Amino acid sequence: MNSKYNANEKGFYGQFGGTFIPEMLYPNVEELRLKYLEISQEPEFKKEFMSLLKEYVGRPTPLYFAKRLSDKYNAKIYLKREDLCHTGAHKINNTIGQILLAKRLGKQRIIAETGAGQHGVATATVCALMGLQCIVYMGEIDIERQAPNVARMKMLGAEVRPATSGSKTLKDATNEAIRDWINNPEDTFYIIGSVVGPHPYPDMVARFQSVISEEIKIQLLEHENRENPDYVIACVGGGSNAAGVFYHFLDEENVKLLAIEAAGKGIYSGESAATSVLGKMGIIHGSKTLLMQTEDGQITEPYSISAGLDYPGIGPLHAHLFDTKRAEFLSVTDDEAMQAGMELAQSEGIIPAIESAHALAALENKKFDPNDIVVVNLSGRGDKDLNTYINYFKL
Ligand SMILES: *Cc1c(COP(=O)(O)O)cnc(C)c1O
Repeated sequence: MNSKYNANEKGFYGQFGGTFIPEMLYPNVEELRLKYLEISQEPEFKKEFMSLLKEYVGRPTPLYFAKRLSDKYNAKIYLKREDLCHTGAHKINNTIGQILLAKRLGKQRIIAETGAGQHGVATATVCALMGLQCIVYMGEIDIERQAPNVARMKMLGAEVRPATSGSKTLKDATNEAIRDWINNPEDTFYIIGSVVGPHPYPDMVARFQSVISEEIKIQLLEHENRENPDYVIACVGGGSNAAGVFYHFLDEENVKLLAIEAAGKGIYSGESAATSVLGKMGIIHGSKTLLMQTEDGQITEPYSISAGLDYPGIGPLHAHLFDTKRAEFLSVTDDEAMQAGMELAQSEGIIPAIESAHALAALENKKFDPNDIVVVNLSGRGDKDLNTYINYFKL
């Protein structure tokens, strides 16, 4: 799709994006840049990708009309049910795409980094599916905090390697993964889990996730006799589920795009992940984007009750959507998200991931017309968050 909101040749979205990497990584990234579009547009590739999305992931996911939620907010509210994907979230759409690319490039060894473990699980899953070696880097502290996901990865045959430097969290795991990639340029493919990283990753991941909005257009036509909703709402960690659900609406300026960040304990509490408000231009993970940082440009440790939104930057596409005001950015606190999660459970019988509950909480902040069609991307299911719900609500 040729859109002014898409990456240009060099991977820039306006002033954001690009390829800011150490020289030693250049050949790896360049190989991918030269081949990703050609390979992913081959009919054989597309056929295999779509067939796995259908038979293995369970796509298309339903676009569900949430009647009781619609009554409450006085608008037509639809939920895009990415929570029903295999492994419980949208992340698998992207890892399927990247593992097929890795195979076509002849790579035998897959590496990834993970914070909460969700991307690690999605990567370990597709490696098991394809019989490829899988090494997941994870901060030592995250390994303790996310024990069930560590067990899942191991059961799926992956090796989980602890990152023991710095704050022992996601950014340190990312550094380790990049170091590994530099040392193993020939046989290794690095699967990144969101629309972040050096070009071509943000564009590549957005394309793999764009199946979400492609399906919505078809499904909305069936339900409402029109392709475009009035609003699309999604939470933003790095921004891959939002990129996927916005993608085919980017140039439809009548479709309002709402990007929801985690305000944690309050935007200015010092414990937050509201990057669009708190961030400044900087370089993280090989791309230029908005980033939470100290005065000397060191990355600030973000906070959110939802591990998937606990990221100090946003992908360059979203920095550009913020900059151009194409998307409206709102932020939602831990408390607001938890209440919205409980509300969805009790009004529709769906327990959402706490990440997705942030998108739902935004319904409170907007005034809709009764005929407005609102699509909320339900990025994942809440099983992984049950302990957090139990502790929060004393269930
Ligand atoms: C990882 C995750 C997110 C955040 O990642 P994005 O790249 O911003 O989509 C949101 N929801 C769920 C369920 C996740 O697992």
